[in-house]
Amino acid sequence: MNITVVGAGAMGSLFGGLLAESGHGVTLVDVNAAHLQAIESHGLRLHNDQTDRHIRALRACRPDEADGVPDLVLLFTKTLHTARALAGVAHLIGAETHVLSLQNGLGNVEAIGQHVAMERILIGVTTWPADLVGPGHVHSHGKGVVRLMSADGRERPFVAAVARALDEAGLACTADVAVWTAIWEKVAFNAALNSICAATQCTVDQLGAVEDGQALAFAIVDEVLAVAQAQGVAVQVDACKARVADAIARHVGHKPSMLQDVLAGRRTEIEAINGAVVAAAAARGIPVPCTRTLLQIVRLVQARAPHSLETP
Ligand code: NAD
Repeated sequence: MNITVVGAGAMGSLFGGLLAESGHGVTLVDVNAAHLQAIESHGLRLHNDQTDRHIRALRACRPDEADGVPDLVLLFTKTLHTARALAGVAHLIGAETHVLSLQNGLGNVEAIGQHVAMERILIGVTTWPADLVGPGHVHSHGKGVVRLMSADGRERPFVAAVARALDEAGLACTADVAVWTAIWEKVAFNAALNSICAATQCTVDQLGAVEDGQALAFAIVDEVLAVAQAQGVAVQVDACKARVADAIARHVGHKPSMLQDVLAGRRTEIEAINGAVVAAAAARGIPVPCTRTLLQIVRLVQARAPHSLETP
């Protein structure tokens, strides 16, 4: 498969590197000049629990330098950069090109739908973690999974082929018609923990310091999953709360990405997470007061950030 990874930061580099090692033709497209330069010079350094190695069998370039028509665009920008990133690679998207988003949040199908027909959009969720240690250097630890499906929910041979490619690359991927359950449950988890940590600058475990921390997180999970249920998505509220409680008990010192963004003065993915939930709730008249308040607070917090005026 010819695969172009658009947004080759932490996750794009991890997935692109493993797909390249597994024999696919991979181009990493990004706007981070230092990262691209490091990969072109030394290959992509991928450090995980097994090994620390350099992957050289891939290309890395800016959007305007990319050419050819890939079978698959794997979109891994932060959600606030999706529109601009897809516009930057519009020249690569042919009649048979599919686009897969494993980004967090809601609204990804709609954003991709500005560029690609619905039957060529794949959507999913992943629990693999990754961090960009420095230019050309990605780190991942532990294990994760990927669940994906075509955005319109129809099983197609290409969806199975993409799931197989990711699975054979070691990413534990399944095609799953219940993918929206996983997406909404992850949105609930992130709407709770990411936004509270971004607003308070607590690490995840510090939310357990007083009873209010977990109670607020649970209230947000209840609100988000009520919206999912109103949309006909079968979600498991207790299982989702158990994952939140487990994270508070065990993720000692962990700063969720939204807190990392706040601390680095970057804009966050709050609009695709709490913002999208509040919009979906408003459309159905469902009250989501905690989710909305955290949205408002994180908007205020990030408005102070040096890069808050960056155009998405
Ligand atoms: P990241 O910031 O490390 O990578 C995003 C990359 O997109 C950056 O390298 C950036 O330079 C690039 N980019 C920005 N604008 C671009 C443009 N116009 N054209 C091309 N590239 C552009 O982010 P990440 O941590 O890899 O996360 C990506 C997505 O995956 C997010 O939605 C995140 O929530 C989700 N996710 C992350 C993790 C994780 O552990 N990092 C896990 C699961 C899901």
